[in-house]
Amino acid sequence: MSNPRKDQRSQDEFDRVHKMTLIHSLPPRLRHGLQDETVENLQLCVQITKELACIQRGQVPTHWTGWVVCCHCGPVFAPEGTQGISVAGCPWCHVTNPTIHIPRPKVRHKS
Ligand SMILES: [Zn+2]
Repeated sequence: MSNPRKDQRSQDEFDRVHKMTLIHSLPPRLRHGLQDETVENLQLCVQITKELACIQRGQVPTHWTGWVVCCHCGPVFAPEGTQGISVAGCPWCHVTNPTIHIPRPKVRHKS
C-alpha cells in the first residue's frame, strides 16, 4: 500500500532535482532567478540555448527542417513549419564570427 504523502514528497523531490539539473545545464550567466520556473519553461530554455550554441558553430539545430528568407542573411534554416516566409531578422543574424559558414537550404527560385 502506498503512502500518498510520501509519494507527493518523492514527486516534489524529483521535480526539484529535475529543475536543478536543467538549470545547471545552462551557462552560469543565465541561471539566476530560474528556480521558480516550471519544468516545461526550463526545458524550453535549455533547448533554445542548445540551438543557439549550434548556430554559433555554424550547425543547423536538430529538427530545423524549415527555412525563412531573412532580409539580412537571405535563405536560412529555421524551425519546422516556417517554409519560405520573409523575416526582418533571424538567429543566424547573430553569427558574427566571419570564419563560420552559415549553412543554406536548397531553395528553388520562382521563375
Ligand atoms: Zn538573419
